[in-house]
Amino acid sequence: MWRSKPPAKLRLKSRRKKMKYVLVTGGVVSGLGKGVTASSIGVLLKACGLRVTSIKIDPYLNTDAGTMSPFEHGEVFVLDDGGEVDLDLGNYERFLDIKLTRDNNITTGKIYQHVIAKERKGDYLGKTVQVVPHITDAIQEWIERVAAIPVDGQEGPADICVIELGGTIGDIESAPFIEALGQFSYRVGPGNFCLVHVSLVPVLNVVGEQKTKPTQHSVRGLRGLGLIPDILACRSTKALEENVKEKLAQFCHVPLESIFTLYDVPNIWHIPLLLKDQKAHLAISKVLNLASIVKEPYLEEWTSRAELCDNLHVPVRIAVVGKYTGLSDAYLSILKALLHASVACRKKLVVDWVPACDLEKETEKENPNAYKAAWKLLKGVDGVLVPGGFGDRGVEGKILAAKYARENKVPFLGICLGMQVSVIEFARSVLCLHDANSTEFKPETKHPCIVFMPEGSRTHMGGTMRLGSRKSIFTVKDSKSAKLYGNRSSVDERHRHRYEVNPEMVERLEKAGLSFAAKDETGKRMEIVELPNHPFFIGAQFHPEYKSRPGKASPLFLGLIAASCGELDTVMNPASVDQHLISNGLKSVFSNGTSKKAPNGRADVRYNNGFCNGLHTR
Ligand code: GLN
Repeated sequence: MWRSKPPAKLRLKSRRKKMKYVLVTGGVVSGLGKGVTASSIGVLLKACGLRVTSIKIDPYLNTDAGTMSPFEHGEVFVLDDGGEVDLDLGNYERFLDIKLTRDNNITTGKIYQHVIAKERKGDYLGKTVQVVPHITDAIQEWIERVAAIPVDGQEGPADICVIELGGTIGDIESAPFIEALGQFSYRVGPGNFCLVHVSLVPVLNVVGEQKTKPTQHSVRGLRGLGLIPDILACRSTKALEENVKEKLAQFCHVPLESIFTLYDVPNIWHIPLLLKDQKAHLAISKVLNLASIVKEPYLEEWTSRAELCDNLHVPVRIAVVGKYTGLSDAYLSILKALLHASVACRKKLVVDWVPACDLEKETEKENPNAYKAAWKLLKGVDGVLVPGGFGDRGVEGKILAAKYARENKVPFLGICLGMQVSVIEFARSVLCLHDANSTEFKPETKHPCIVFMPEGSRTHMGGTMRLGSRKSIFTVKDSKSAKLYGNRSSVDERHRHRYEVNPEMVERLEKAGLSFAAKDETGKRMEIVELPNHPFFIGAQFHPEYKSRPGKASPLFLGLIAASCGELDTVMNPASVDQHLISNGLKSVFSNGTSKKAPNGRADVRYNNGFCNGLHTR
């Protein structure tokens, strides 16, 4: 018995029984950075000592993101369980350092599929199956079920579930979700549901005044649909003026202390700090009746990292030779992994996008300027990365990029298709098998060094992708990759592919000098290739980018960046790698990284939803 209050830890435990929900909606326009805002709210609450999980709702009809074009929708993010999901789940995993499941991404397709399957089984007992209540009930049950799945490695459900509703308030396709969430807020009751509405406060150049009308309209729309905002997060170029906030409070019926301004910042790691400075944790915990148990947020690590990132000057130039170079969201996790590694090495990341097609001979004839520009870019970088991809467009250009890196001893990292092209290139150039290819691109090739190796059926394309976390065992102990992974015997990384190195050609390739440093548990699937006599030439069949975190850079990316700065030995020293993996990555693994200044003309900043993501690109 405690005479006054029980100790804080026990109070927290007893309060944990009931899940609390933070719903994040968006208004006015899409692309406001709703995902980053929702993840940042999660970071802030986690920093207050709460356990946080998240759910992303995408109101489109696709069951998952697996079939969606990265060019239209950004990259497909892959989870441990093989779920192919919206890229926002990557933001949640990176920001909150959690591992989500495929069910944490709800789509209209998934909900309808679930309800229709139940209807076919006769579960509705002859009733007319309707959007309300059957679809709306299914949405609520799904949210409650998935929110209870632990995602942070600890036992039992989290304290808070942040739910992000994709799209913009008023979209026709999100109507069933809005209705379901309105019912849900009532179902979980007051004190358990907090609605954060992310909106836009634009400035019209003519008058230079911050305009509240778009937010007023969008809040009115929200209320009209039965949802009442507790908190307004306003995107703007500069901090909101006090009178603008007052006006919003008055017209939107939201207390002044619950209106936050998310103005443009130099990198997205500042967003949780912006929220903390404006005491968003207090406003949220007040709505959720958590005020008595939340601690003062501890965000030292985030603060140092955000500041460190702003103050990096020595550039490291990396060419990303890909297909979708017009849309950086198509390679979001690759960019983030490069950024995490660059920050760990205290270097300013400069990405040069090289369209793979432009490196090809055909382009020399058709568009000589594009050809020259692409080669000039490639020849000016410190390191080359060839990312994953599907389909044959640009494959020959990627092969040429691998050849250039191999012959000129430029650090190279090939991921999935990037690894496959490096093997094809080696077979063509070193083994002189000129028509060596992948059967994905040339089924009739005489030298198939990459072949279809499904885990399931060979005859059905559907469901044949090797997806999700698989074990790779290091077979060459003194390889660079084994050292970078801290001399562990194996690693679990995420996969998304159908084709692999032909096991029948492995011996020949090995004899010619290609080393297969890691294989799967059967020894038949090649997971990592390396060229031992090259400063840094590594290809991975898996996608290490999906598990990179701001404070824990992915080892292979760390290797690429370090090698590109001529500092590979420092990260391969087991002591410093271990320290790096364990620590939060803020301590530089190098001591002399800040002496040079960036050359002029390389400071153009790429904005991601108006929040600059800290990358410098051309
Ligand atoms: N298209 C290749 C395969 O299916 C590579 C896939 C990828 O890069 N993710 O194996």
